[in-house]
Amino acid sequence: MKIAVFSTKSYDKIYFDKHKAKSKHTFTYFETTLNADTTNLTIGYEGVCVFVNDKIDEKTIGNLSKNGIKLIALRCAGFNNVDLKAAQEKNIKVVRVPAYSPQAVAEHAVAMILTLNRKTHKVYNRVRESNFSLENLTGFNLHGKTIGVIGTGQIGIAFCKIMLGFGCKIIAYDIKKSEELISEDIDYQTLDEILKNADIISLHCPLTPETNHLFDNAAFSKMKDGVMIINTSRGALIKTKDAIDALKKGKIGYFGIDVYEQEEHLFFKDLSESIIQDDLIQRLISFPNVLITPHQGFFTEEALTQIAVTTMKNISDFEEGKNLPNEVKG
Ligand code: NAD
Repeated sequence: MKIAVFSTKSYDKIYFDKHKAKSKHTFTYFETTLNADTTNLTIGYEGVCVFVNDKIDEKTIGNLSKNGIKLIALRCAGFNNVDLKAAQEKNIKVVRVPAYSPQAVAEHAVAMILTLNRKTHKVYNRVRESNFSLENLTGFNLHGKTIGVIGTGQIGIAFCKIMLGFGCKIIAYDIKKSEELISEDIDYQTLDEILKNADIISLHCPLTPETNHLFDNAAFSKMKDGVMIINTSRGALIKTKDAIDALKKGKIGYFGIDVYEQEEHLFFKDLSESIIQDDLIQRLISFPNVLITPHQGFFTEEALTQIAVTTMKNISDFEEGKNLPNEVKG
């Protein structure tokens, strides 16, 4: 199939080119994101391959349909950026990579916890300037702390297992309980109980209408003072303005985010010479107890390989009229 790949970065091309040999597909790489204004680029192609910040709304899908696009291949797990109903109406199939490495994201969440807690990012810079003081570097033991996990799918499960190894008590909330975790002595509680009881809360549920702004002023007010919040899932799970208020009051003691509500304007780009217009992220960056990473949770060799291999297979399955195990429907 002829596929137009959007939001392409050097690493996408490297891993796709490495794994495309076994398939008959041809890929044309575009750096631009796919949205209603860039759909002209899809003329002459049969499918598109997109990532987390491409905007596949109703208008984009209408244009794609006119251009003869039959397949939207997401090279990510989340699909909140695709209007699935509109795709179904236009008979465009949507496939994704459901699990490219749950461990990659889970391990990144743990890295954020350790960094915020033990402040290794700060001491790295201090020591380079011959400052060997321990002032303001006090951390806390993870052993014995209560970790609240929201969403216990593939990434949530991997995260729980790592945290069990630290000797933490894990409490979890999900609309569907994991039998595997129940057998590991993980205690499922209501969302309110998690907010009240957890020292650290890590978000691993998808962004849906129900989870949009799950963490707002009302939720923060129920949490322990000085709580640590980690979000490696989707930015809009947290209402950023309310998080800033909670940070200013000291309600949130540590805030680690790999995803951000308005990330499509910022992440995956080098903006070091630009004037950032987003005042909320600039305010977040100014806090000493905030750690922001630019949606890099997935970014391991294993995950990039899996993304390329599964995407090739998804496209081949579609072309050959096979069952689509990785299809997502509205
Ligand atoms: P998954 O589908 O395996 O698990 C999601 C879990 O969330 C499921 O158990 C589901 O029942 C639960 N859930 C759904 N709605 C819920 C709700 N309202 N309240 C509580 N729980 C709810 O997904 P996954 O592979 O574990 O990925 C989780 C999320 O991580 C994805 O949706 C994506 O947004 C994000 N992600 C981020 C990165 C990154 O690089 N930072 C990479 C991959 C995925």
